[in-house]
Amino acid sequence: MIVFAVSASKINVIDSCWELYNLTYNRRWAVNENDKPLDQGTVVHAVHSHYYKAKMTENWFSSPEREGIVLDEATNKGRRVGVDLAISVSEIDEAIGAARQSLIHHRQDGITVHAVEEPFSRILYETPDREGPNGEKIHGVRILWEGRVDLVATLPNNPLAVWDHKSESRKTNPSELDNQFEGSAWAFDVDDIVVNKVGFQTSLKDEEKFRRIFLNYRSKAIIEEWRVDVIKSVLATIERHKREAAGHPDWPRNRTSCNKFSGCRFKPVCKAIPAVREVKLQTWYHIRPQHELLDKDQQQTHVTGVEPE
Ligand code: SF4
Repeated sequence: MIVFAVSASKINVIDSCWELYNLTYNRRWAVNENDKPLDQGTVVHAVHSHYYKAKMTENWFSSPEREGIVLDEATNKGRRVGVDLAISVSEIDEAIGAARQSLIHHRQDGITVHAVEEPFSRILYETPDREGPNGEKIHGVRILWEGRVDLVATLPNNPLAVWDHKSESRKTNPSELDNQFEGSAWAFDVDDIVVNKVGFQTSLKDEEKFRRIFLNYRSKAIIEEWRVDVIKSVLATIERHKREAAGHPDWPRNRTSCNKFSGCRFKPVCKAIPAVREVKLQTWYHIRPQHELLDKDQQQTHVTGVEPE
């Protein structure tokens, strides 16, 4: 049985560029410089996670003093997490400040928390091992959809929803077609995803920085389309791994993805002549251990590679 675990971040990379997938997940290269937005997001998540774990246990805080204590504990947790990251003290403080302000802004929302930082692994697709026409063994495939959601919670008069805290320094709107949201709706069989925005902008009012955006997934046909598309992309990935294992690696570059978002981190490598690419990788990048790749991916979701059983 070939087992392939896929997360939202991994499928985004697979669908974006084969060479990007090869460098990031197959060869595990990561750029040496820090990723400020990702690290600040980690601090925001740490603060929220402590606060909502307390809220899950206590439901209503017994007094404003008790809530203040929980917020201070959450701040300390954010600081502890932040010192292990490659961001400055002022960047840690900026993230903690935004997280605290957001929690205070929503303190009267009447939320009921059912789970915090809930990891999940679901079988998205499975075929059994079987025998070929000449008695040879043909491996089945199991595709696992894995990740970790920030919250499973309900607001008064609203159904159970999966929540995702998203920090941002400029105002953006989430897409319903995001793999992470469609995948979470499928994994938890919920109709609603709540994107809990934590904005860092000092010029905006709280209502604009700390928006809660509801995405609806009542149509199960849409979710099924997502599932089928992910399966097709993963099966294509497994075929490419098999080709590489047979000595014929083939990870083509998709040049339309190089400038997307803030630009691909591997542009300096792809721009270089083939003879010097390995030197560029050794100089500006490092190979991440599997557990580090797993941790980083868990901040968005979770990952493992092709693992023959
Ligand atoms: S720079 Fe472009 S071609 Fe190279 S890995 Fe990134 S997206 Fe792919």
